[in-house]
Amino acid sequence: MKTLTLEQELNPWEAQAARFDFAAQKLNLDEGLWKILRYPAREIIVHIPVSMDDGRLEVFTGFRVQHSIARGPAKGGVRYSPDVNLDEVRALASWMTWKCAVVNIPFGGAKGGIICDPKKLTLGELEKLTRRYTAELIEFIGPEKDVPAPDMGTNEQTMAWMMDTFSMHMRQTVTAVVTGKPINIGGSRGRREATGRGVMINCDEALRKFGMDRERTKVIVQGFGNVGSNAAKLMSDAGYKIIGIAEYNGGLYNAKGIDIDALLEFRDRNNKNGIVGFTGAEAADPKELMITECDILIPAATENVITSQNAANIKAKIICEGANGPTTAAADDILADKKVFVIPDILANAGGVTASYFEWVQDRQGYFWKESAVNEQLEFILKESFEDVVHFSETHNVNNRIAAYMLAISRVAHTIKLRGIYA
Ligand code: GLU
Repeated sequence: MKTLTLEQELNPWEAQAARFDFAAQKLNLDEGLWKILRYPAREIIVHIPVSMDDGRLEVFTGFRVQHSIARGPAKGGVRYSPDVNLDEVRALASWMTWKCAVVNIPFGGAKGGIICDPKKLTLGELEKLTRRYTAELIEFIGPEKDVPAPDMGTNEQTMAWMMDTFSMHMRQTVTAVVTGKPINIGGSRGRREATGRGVMINCDEALRKFGMDRERTKVIVQGFGNVGSNAAKLMSDAGYKIIGIAEYNGGLYNAKGIDIDALLEFRDRNNKNGIVGFTGAEAADPKELMITECDILIPAATENVITSQNAANIKAKIICEGANGPTTAAADDILADKKVFVIPDILANAGGVTASYFEWVQDRQGYFWKESAVNEQLEFILKESFEDVVHFSETHNVNNRIAAYMLAISRVAHTIKLRGIYA
């Protein structure tokens, strides 16, 4: 793979493009298709005026990038964070295309974002921001066009406001315009836990491959948001030993295993400081936890936490990427040399969008499934996808990440070839 400067290494777009180019080359991808798939199909920038609670007018910048609609409507979350930028949203949109193709669901890829700090906005300000953002995108989103969902800094409430705003413009209730909604307004049972559940299913498959068992498997989770906390809870209930949790403001370590139910209860009471101060484990440096001895490391927070700076010191045997883009392309090479078994983001965290697909199907059917049906279908799709990726990696002699990209790119390219280019 091409060598990158540290600045390039940490740019998610470069990280995505480096893997895409490598996989496309391995596939001998047609040059024209290469040009189509390397870049997003559409990029929208909006400047959103919001009247703040103190009477001031503030203008926020938002994005929606649709990378591909070849296999179906564009699909992907909306991120609220002070660090959001166009290159990041572009990368995340492309990753959505590859993710949906890896799990073989009929969606393209998109991502949205607004540069803002949701922690510093009141609920009223967040609502106005979300509604105006949705209104600005009104002609670009819709159940058959582009279906947003939650991502970092957004949640079920954000999706409820988006659904309502879109519906008010359409003069009818359109639940299928977004996924990740509250259950009583068209959300799906099991969606909230689905990304974490998908992480566990992938870990289970890896254990099966290596003949390991859950009870003897020590896990460290980085990030305790929707993905990390649900993965930790489900995995600890299933018998895995969660020995470490790393958060942005502190970490926890307990060699005997952390009581996740007690931690969740503590976190909910300790609103501001999250997991910090929990007495059921020792306080630990979150950076140290990344390089602490364990069987499985689950980066479940944000991009660029495994880089050329710390990859050589990682001691985990398996890395299961709950977040999008936690590992840089330079770190991939180091991990491959160390024979770490990496379950790449576009497979590891695909449980979320897979359950989003079920939600979209249920909304369009007007028929809602039992939670057991959601979980069963999720498990079926993810197990098959895990097998497909590992098989591709073994038959093409590439690592799991490149295998997942190759599988995804070949599926999207095949669709474009069949459809042809409209001129
Ligand atoms: N934001 C999530 C992701 O990155 C979910 C996307 C979706 O459900 O559309 O996969």
